[in-house]
Amino acid sequence: MGLFRNSLCAMALSLFAASAGNAATLLEPTLHVKPQGVEGGGGRVALTLDACGGKTDTRILSALVDNRIPATIFVTGIWLKRNAEAVEIMRAHPDLFELENHGGRHIPAVDTPQKIYGIRSAGSPDAVQAEVESGAAALAGAGGPAPRWFRGATAEYSPSAIAMIRRLGFKIAGFSVNGDGGSLLGAKETARRIGAAKDGDVIIAHINQPTHAAGEGVVQGLLALKQKGMTFVRLDDAEGIGNDGTTD
Ligand SMILES: [Zn+2]
Repeated sequence: MGLFRNSLCAMALSLFAASAGNAATLLEPTLHVKPQGVEGGGGRVALTLDACGGKTDTRILSALVDNRIPATIFVTGIWLKRNAEAVEIMRAHPDLFELENHGGRHIPAVDTPQKIYGIRSAGSPDAVQAEVESGAAALAGAGGPAPRWFRGATAEYSPSAIAMIRRLGFKIAGFSVNGDGGSLLGAKETARRIGAAKDGDVIIAHINQPTHAAGEGVVQGLLALKQKGMTFVRLDDAEGIGNDGTTD
């Protein structure tokens, strides 16, 4: 089951188009942080990393700690249960890591029955609510501050699910740079995409696929951004502005 969940996760956000069939239109919201806007300055970006299930990519975790790069980590209840050591490292560096809600069981926050990247959606409003609330409960159970941001599995939503998640009190974390293509990209392309992030971008990548080449590219891309003088902010420290009613 672990492997199965890993592959589901890897498929999410892949380069391949979803075959939603005749199901409801889905939204993949974008998110930006307020640009630094300084002439000639490096600018600022938000790094968001999903921990869908599976394990921890310690290449990335160590690089963040060693280079003091702050990140917002979206964790599921499944991942939290199996990665106590990584959680402990993150909790030991509250100045670097903000943990947010990626759902209890990594089920897409879509309230009609359909498949997204091969993953079955929650399928009903009640099931979306359960996914969001169980993710928050898992984080509360692991200690630390209550989450304020939610990102659903696959980062796609039905419009009515977005409205419900907002009513539950969460902002929804889209992104503007798909850094690792669901962790399926090679190291070189991942490094190129992340290294090309601009002032105000929100990067998404994964921190739960230690065997994938993409993780190496995540590290290279981040170090390139740091070298360029880019500042990293976490979602709670930035004024994130999303479309599709995700933050307002
Ligand atoms: Zn995920």
